Amino acid sequence: MAGSKCVRLSGELAKQLLASVDSVLFDCDGVIWRGDQAIPGAPRVIELLKEHGKKVFFVTNNSTKTRKMYVDKMSTLGFNASEDEVFGTAYCSAIYLKTVCKLQGKVYLIGSNAMKQELEAVGIQQTGLGPDHIFGKQTDWANVPLEPDVKAVLVGFDEHFSYMKLNRALQYLTRMDCLFVGTNRDTRLPLEGGTAVPGTGCLLQAVETAAQRQAATVGKPSRFMFDCVASKFHVEPGRCLMVGDRLDTDIMLGSNCGLKTLLTLTGVSTVAEAEANQKSGCSERQGMVPDYYVESIADLLPALQG
Ligand SMILES: [Mg+2]
Repeated sequence: MAGSKCVRLSGELAKQLLASVDSVLFDCDGVIWRGDQAIPGAPRVIELLKEHGKKVFFVTNNSTKTRKMYVDKMSTLGFNASEDEVFGTAYCSAIYLKTVCKLQGKVYLIGSNAMKQELEAVGIQQTGLGPDHIFGKQTDWANVPLEPDVKAVLVGFDEHFSYMKLNRALQYLTRMDCLFVGTNRDTRLPLEGGTAVPGTGCLLQAVETAAQRQAATVGKPSRFMFDCVASKFHVEPGRCLMVGDRLDTDIMLGSNCGLKTLLTLTGVSTVAEAEANQKSGCSERQGMVPDYYVESIADLLPALQG
């Protein structure tokens, strides 16, 4: 096994891999579900991992749900999970502002109601949720009323993103003591049938361009997502497996944190892309080569049942 990467996982090798880990981190969309449908066999895989004494966590860049909303969705799809096991970027960005930034003050939020709820759960107030329509002329925009106690701009997925929100974020971020945080940089949200819509990365880049500043990001592949799990539970990186469908976020996170990595082919990335990264000779792209791959996480069932 040593030295080889991007190996198809099956039979004895799958058993060996599972015996070598205590914790398994799963991305959600494209891994355990697609849209509103569970990947066949996925609920049983999670159940069996837990029966085998493995700690299981769910790490997702999607900022539109609270931990409670994820648990409700998972329950509907036949998964048994608790809020403690779920790490979405709405929750993790609230934890980041609270524990890493030690924020004293309010957040100007470009984001969702779920983000508002997770911020409030750690005692952080926000302003900005919901539509923000344009008014007046350019000089009015530059002098738009700002709240004095806003000390951070947080950008996540916001279906009401608008020119006025972009402008308001710029005005806050011209204050150098205003922190700048983004949930994630995924540029597209893939939908069933091969279509896609713009992701949070597009909104974040627009704000970065306007403000001429770079945001710190919380979501995968930033290692904060793993640190968030590891700070609440004992997780030894070398005995942890990251399972994901995207090379640039999930597998990169695993590589950044020294985890074992497994690519599943039920989502975005392909084996051909992983192999192209491997053959590229580019050191950054080596982080986007998984240790193993499977067609679906249901391929782990024989190793767990045997
Ligand atoms: Mg995914």
